[in-house]
Amino acid sequence: MSRVHQLSNLTGVMLPFVGVIVAGALLWGTVVRWSSLAVLLVMYVVTILGVTLGFHRLLTHRSFQTFKWLQYVIAAVGSMAVQGPVMSWVADHRKHHAHTDQEGDPHTPHGHGEGVKGAIVGLWYAHMGWLFDKSGQAEHSRYARDLYEDRGMRLIHRTFGLWVVAGIAIPFAVGYAVAGTLGGALEAALWGGPVRIFLLHHVTWSINSVCHFFGTRRFDVDDHSTNVFWLAPLSMGEAWHHNHHTFPRSAFHGLKAWEIDPTGWVIRAMRATRLAWNVVEITPERQREKLA
Ligand SMILES: [Zn+2]
Ligand SMILES: [Zn+2]
Repeated sequence: MSRVHQLSNLTGVMLPFVGVIVAGALLWGTVVRWSSLAVLLVMYVVTILGVTLGFHRLLTHRSFQTFKWLQYVIAAVGSMAVQGPVMSWVADHRKHHAHTDQEGDPHTPHGHGEGVKGAIVGLWYAHMGWLFDKSGQAEHSRYARDLYEDRGMRLIHRTFGLWVVAGIAIPFAVGYAVAGTLGGALEAALWGGPVRIFLLHHVTWSINSVCHFFGTRRFDVDDHSTNVFWLAPLSMGEAWHHNHHTFPRSAFHGLKAWEIDPTGWVIRAMRATRLAWNVVEITPERQREKLA
């Protein structure tokens, strides 16, 4: 991994963290505007869906089909989550599925030593450490060939920085429109920008660390993936990660009625309104066959 790549990842990780500290300091002794928290909430939901629905279930696994223009919109929105350019994300994640919890997996928490120390080192590596070591390493031409051959996707990939800036400029503009002051605009930009990105990062990274370490399993698959119920709402259903590793192409990660899967709900709504088709669904029989 090049020095520039390492530095840019470090910046991407540290800036949101600094933003959270600044937001906390500003909050101290004052009250944050409701509108800024609303901007945080809306931006969080929209941009995490860009990753869960877009980068992950649509572009990595092709679990449903949709219009080309909508693919581009979703890829642009997913870029605002600041988890790397679209082709790097997809390539790294396909590599993770190809070598889950084995040699070649870019971010497994396993195989980092024995005992408690090995567990802590492994969890750290899977959560964040790999970003400074293996992120963006999976060859696009090999692991993301379909995107690589798509001019529109290549453009969205190359203009990643612009989407990141847009993800902060939008909250700024909304804050200014609502509060009418520069202070209001900056506050909304802080909560809708760095604070949102910080939350998004740690929720998504927890799928790589927590969901390969703690939690429950019920299918017979040869990896360490787990379902983690308390992470499901915040991660928009991605924490049913053991279900996902069992049936990677399934558009729905929550397979039981009580397995909360907001991304799946959105895909159902898209199917009902004909924005999505060929939605991959796993029959109860196939699920039963895979039970451990
Ligand atoms: Zn996984
Ligand atoms: Zn996946």
